[in-house]
Amino acid sequence: MGKEKDSELMEKIVSLTKRRGFVFQGSEIYGGIAGMFDYGPLGVALSHNITDLWWDKFVDARDDVYGLDAAIIMNPKVWEASGHVDGFSDPMVECKKCKKRFREDQVEGECLECGGEFADAKQFNMMFKTNVGATEDESSVTYLRPETAGGIFTNFKNVMDSMHPKLPFGIAQIGKAFRNEIAPRDFIFRLREMKQMEVEYFVKEVDWEGAFSQWQKSMNEYAQEIGIDKDSLHELEVGDGDRAHYSKRTIDFEFDFPFGRKELWGLAYRSDHDLTCHAKASGVDLTYLDTETNERFVPHVVEPSLGVDRTVLAVLVSAYREDEVGDSKRVYLAFKPSVAPIKAAVFPLMKNKPELQEKAREVYKNLKKEIPQIMFDDNGNVGKRYRRQDEIGTPYCITIDFDTLEDNTVTVRNRDTAEQERVSIENLVEVLKKDL
Ligand code: ATP
Repeated sequence: MGKEKDSELMEKIVSLTKRRGFVFQGSEIYGGIAGMFDYGPLGVALSHNITDLWWDKFVDARDDVYGLDAAIIMNPKVWEASGHVDGFSDPMVECKKCKKRFREDQVEGECLECGGEFADAKQFNMMFKTNVGATEDESSVTYLRPETAGGIFTNFKNVMDSMHPKLPFGIAQIGKAFRNEIAPRDFIFRLREMKQMEVEYFVKEVDWEGAFSQWQKSMNEYAQEIGIDKDSLHELEVGDGDRAHYSKRTIDFEFDFPFGRKELWGLAYRSDHDLTCHAKASGVDLTYLDTETNERFVPHVVEPSLGVDRTVLAVLVSAYREDEVGDSKRVYLAFKPSVAPIKAAVFPLMKNKPELQEKAREVYKNLKKEIPQIMFDDNGNVGKRYRRQDEIGTPYCITIDFDTLEDNTVTVRNRDTAEQERVSIENLVEVLKKDL
């Protein structure tokens, strides 16, 4: 796609997601706040479906991964030991004329705003500082976590002592992380408040390559399961000079966003770096005892790290479609049914016929017991309802008409093909559940 078309596509997605209640600008009535977005009723459903599928696949379906939900605010020593206090920074340049700040790697030559000259680059730490307790001095300073991984490493011993897992095993966490990005941009791609889904998968050193390939494969499967376009997903082997010094292999999963090919997720082999640093700084023994060989050692770790917001955006971009039905244009989101915020919408053919209303309500109520993410809609005519449901990516629309009252069948209309079939009410759950 050409540049112009891409920025047009991004505008269409931003506008659709706002109009239909997926994503709103944070604090909008006060003029917003850079780098923060809010998920509306349909956005939160989409995002939950994405995180639930991740949890199902990487925690519940396995017997070697343990869940965790650690506090966002941690002892600042965690971030000293992990290197974030000293090293979690981007080089920033400030324009001498208009004082605007940019990330050095995102500008060339002169200021993008006014053409002014830049002062020398300075390091800018991206952690949000806060104070804990009533005194606001250096002793009470801590940070909002810049990644969820910190809470996993600090609970490694707790999980070992309480669950007694054998290597290899993982600890998984989904939660908010905060980065005071110099230049938040591209809608929900680069945020200051975001959500991550991370696993630290602990292995014996000799086993890291096998574990790495296994996670690489699982991440690709997950991408397909949530409907990320296969042709837009690329694996980039991060070269020697660009990897962290302790990482022997890192892959960036990149996605063709409308604003360019950018990092969607990361997969890194981090050796025993993290546990060794935390053991040293805390003075707590973070070794593992292999009861078969009686050897004690610090486990190595493979880390799949996925941003929820970037995943939501990649799913939206992958699903966005425009076509023509009859002779009118339509926009629809071809979500996989498993991520679709609404799985089916139930309509009475006409709003003002009590017998159709009553039957439609009954079908809706019974379906909702089995499939909670469904919706009742009797606004406007059926054509308008179809368009609305297409735009929010509802896979099926179910219409109750006069024939329903006679033979207990309904019309089920498929979002992608716009084709309709008659289905008996008693088979509805089965038909809808087949691709969930
Ligand atoms: P980038 O190079 O784009 O800044 P990163 O390499 O710093 O990203 P990681 O530290 O590897 O990112 O974080 C893991 C994942 O968290 C990323 O792959 C991405 O999905 C997500 N992520 C990181 N920073 C942001 C952000 N500012 N906004 C939204 N998601 C983010």
